Amino acid sequence: MMARAHKVRATRGERRSTPASLLIMHASELLTLGGTPGPRRWDAASELGLIEDGAVYAEQDRIVDVGTTSQVLSRHPRASVQLDATGTVVMPGFVDPHTHVVFAGSREREVEWKSQGLSYADIAARGGGILQTVGATRDAKEEGLAQDGANRLRAMAAFGTTTVEAKSGYGLDPDNERKVLRSIVEAGRIAGLDVVPTFLGAHAIPPEFGGRPEAYVDLVLGDMLEAVTSDGLASFCDVFVDVGYFSVDQARRILTKAREVGLRPKVHADELSDTGGAALAAEMQAVSADHLNHASSEGIEAMSHEGVIAVLLPATSLASHIPFADGRRLVAAGVPVAIGTDFNPNTWCESMQLAIALACHHNGLTPAEAITAATLNAAHAIGREQDVGSVESGKLADLLVLDIPSWRHLGYRLGGNAVETVVKRGRILHRRPGTR
Ligand SMILES: [Zn+2]
Repeated sequence: MMARAHKVRATRGERRSTPASLLIMHASELLTLGGTPGPRRWDAASELGLIEDGAVYAEQDRIVDVGTTSQVLSRHPRASVQLDATGTVVMPGFVDPHTHVVFAGSREREVEWKSQGLSYADIAARGGGILQTVGATRDAKEEGLAQDGANRLRAMAAFGTTTVEAKSGYGLDPDNERKVLRSIVEAGRIAGLDVVPTFLGAHAIPPEFGGRPEAYVDLVLGDMLEAVTSDGLASFCDVFVDVGYFSVDQARRILTKAREVGLRPKVHADELSDTGGAALAAEMQAVSADHLNHASSEGIEAMSHEGVIAVLLPATSLASHIPFADGRRLVAAGVPVAIGTDFNPNTWCESMQLAIALACHHNGLTPAEAITAATLNAAHAIGREQDVGSVESGKLADLLVLDIPSWRHLGYRLGGNAVETVVKRGRILHRRPGTR
């Protein structure tokens, strides 16, 4: 594929006053993801909206026209930036619907501990895990958190991610949760990506509340929730429901209050054990239940009934040495499935391409289902389906040019980077070095 680079050519407009327009043409395969409305499930989860010799035309930050190259050129013969995408796959930018991208410090030492057989709980007992990151994040300045977060977002963009959900949860007190949420917004601004912030005050019990979990729950649904909603800092409220973290009853109290003040519920559900997280997500009409490695049949049925989206995070199974969620069972039950990286200090994974490949090999998704899961269904999982997740007129021009001969290579290649060009809101955000 080395010869590919010379085929993409860009000619830039001569004057900045010229309305910005973009034309990508001759894509061997354009995956529009257009088709059935709503989160895709059952057979619709495999609809990629494939157009051979496809083209996309955008003005400013929005897509204006999509079709075959001859159709689009007949209506829009030129643009201020033109890309010849012969021999490539063009598709919507990846939407990463579950990350914890803003935090201080790192936890590389835990890899040795995992190699020696220590579990997630053993590592937490040794002073690693979430609470180590909480200590470092509380000590960190807002500017540094935002800059580190922006650097990680740029790395994710280089792998094709153009919209990212990002959670708080390493502050665990009102001031520090606000600091992290403000840093998330600033990181997105610096990196030029759209970021959707989620309040995850119920991520762990902080040390000063050791042995008093109910008192901490009261703080979360009282002062902390008020602090983050008064500034409109978050769109969603998430709770880590699992053994050693928060119970279903505690999560129900937090999410009920969050919903009253305008935050949509999400749940970290059944990652380490089955504690009823999937069923709670359905009961709360959460937009998504995430992880689901140990979800019960009843929980999955309830999710299907309420249309709760399952967000699978296979890189975390890889990094935490825990079972992979059964995506095949979720698809068979009619649950819409999304996938994310879960980027966090335990799972340092920037690549949605790797998440797609892992989802195919270990969660039982087909490559087409995994692509839907990483784009349109992920957009639904973070409430951004009006703007991103597919290549359709009116949506943001968030587009990838991938140096692969067919979309099936996305589930096939492990750990590389097929991205040649990333377009964010109609502008070229990233180009592989050497691409002309
Ligand atoms: Zn998470």
